[in-house]
Formats: sequence, C-alpha cells, structure tokens
Amino acid sequence: MKSIVITGGASGIGLAITELFSKKGFRVFFLDYHSENGKALEEKLKNQGAHASFLLCDVSALDQVKAVFGQMPGKIDILVNNAGISHIGNLETTSEEDLDRLFQVNVKGVFNCSQAAIPKLKANQGGLIINICSVAATMGLSDRFAYSMTKGAVLSMTLSIARDYVADQIRCNCISPGRVHTPFVDGFLAKNYPGQEKEMFEKLAATQPIGRMGKPEEIAAMVYYLASEEASFITGSNFPIDGGFLGLKA
Ligand code: NAD
Repeated sequence: MKSIVITGGASGIGLAITELFSKKGFRVFFLDYHSENGKALEEKLKNQGAHASFLLCDVSALDQVKAVFGQMPGKIDILVNNAGISHIGNLETTSEEDLDRLFQVNVKGVFNCSQAAIPKLKANQGGLIINICSVAATMGLSDRFAYSMTKGAVLSMTLSIARDYVADQIRCNCISPGRVHTPFVDGFLAKNYPGQEKEMFEKLAATQPIGRMGKPEEIAAMVYYLASEEASFITGSNFPIDGGFLGLKA
C-alpha cells in the first residue's frame, strides 16, 4: 500500500487531497494544527474504511514535525506540502510580524516537512514531493507582498529539491492554483471585507477568465495525476490551474 503525507489536510484543498487519496486506497497521514477538524475528518474517513491517520502538528515548529514524522513507518511514497496562510498588504502595510508569520508557515513549514520526509523517501528508493504554490509566485498580484514572497520561495525550493534529489529518484513538482473556493477564501473575505463578502466573492470569481473560482477537487485531481505512474517523467515543473488567469489576456 502506498503512503502519502499531506500537510494542512483538514480543510480546503488539503481536505480534498486527503479524501481523494483515502478513497483510492492509500495509507494517508494528514497533518494539521486544527485539532477538531482533523479528528472529525479522521473519524469520517475511518468509518468509510480508509487507512487515514490525523497527526496534530504545526508545520512551522521543527520539533513537532520531527515528532510526527517519527510516528510514521520508515518509508513513505509522497509528501504534499499544502499547509499555508494568507495575508493582505503591500510593502508599506506589511508589518515585520506578518512577514515573519507568513515565512514561518509557508516557507519554513515546507522546509521542515520536506527535510523530515527525505530519509523516508530515500528508504523507499524514491518518491515524490508536491508543493502547493500559487499564481502569486510568478506574477505581481496587488496587496500580496508577504504571501507572494513566500510562494516565490516555494517555487524556488521545488526546483532546488528536484535538482538535488533527481539521482535518488525523488521527484519534486509544484501546483499553482488561481483562486479556489475554500475556507481560506471565505476567511480572507470575512476578515478583510466584512459586510461586502458576497460582492467581493463575485469580483474575485470574475477575475478568472473562465468566470468562476476553482474547486478543491480540481487541485486534488492534479495531485493524483502527478502521483501516478503516468507522471513519472515529470520533475522540477510548476503547474498552474487557474481558469486562464495567467495565460489569457482580457
Ligand atoms: P484552508 O485555510 O482552507 O486550509 C489550510 C489548512 O492548513 C487548514 O486546515 C489549516 O488549519 C492548515 N494549516 C495552516 N497553517 C498550518 C500550520 N502552521 N501547521 C499545520 N496546519 C496548518 O486553505 P486552502 O485554500 O485549502 O489553501 C491550501 C494551500 O493552497 C495553501 O498553501 C494556499 O496558499 C494555497 N492556495 C490556495 C488558493 C485558494 O484560492 N484557496 C490559491 C492558491 C494557493
């Protein structure tokens, strides 16, 4: 049975990935720092007969990451670095605390989990790391200074890992979603546009040339493809899934 580790697996895109790989018969370890969501999802998946385990972990804390990877078997096949947080602000309106917080989760979280996973992927004679990046890594989005900085780093880490571990049969790729309708988006609207959530939701949906936001399941399907044998020639690549956001001009 192939095993997969998914960070931020209890909500949104991570939840869709956790559910899909559980349904497909993988041994799934999903990490999250939201204890209630994680436990509820584990119970639901176990009731469906899945081999899914929730591990409470803040990916930005190296000691916690080491502890949960220590609870897994010696080998794993796949790591999906999905946990991430957002922030609104330009260079002047981003505080040092916000910059550090975003860095800790979105960058150091990927570093911590990837570093902990490498010995297990090597023990497996190879495997795969998939990072959930963003269109923010490769274009100038307004008011996303800290967030874009972290996703640029995720793209660079992807290339670096892919290069350094190609001889170990460890591949590394990233997926760059445009807007996907998840609690991440709902929370962002509630926090930054209170009272204008519906109007802003429609505005955000319309910025994708296809006219809507993506669905978490559409990102999970790409992860599943990248984890398949058919994708075994792919490493060091970034896959936008964005309803035409990057590629189509108005
Ligand atoms: P979400 O908020 O719905 O889910 C994120 C999950 O990660 C939550 O369960 C949260 O508890 C967990 N998490 C956050 N910080 C954590 C930490 N330090 N340790 C452990 N768990 C942590 O978000 P989502 O929309 O599903 O986003 C998932 C990923 O996709 C993020 O990396 C995000 O940057 C990226 N992304 C999202 C969108 C979008 O529009 N939703 C677009 C592009 C990229």
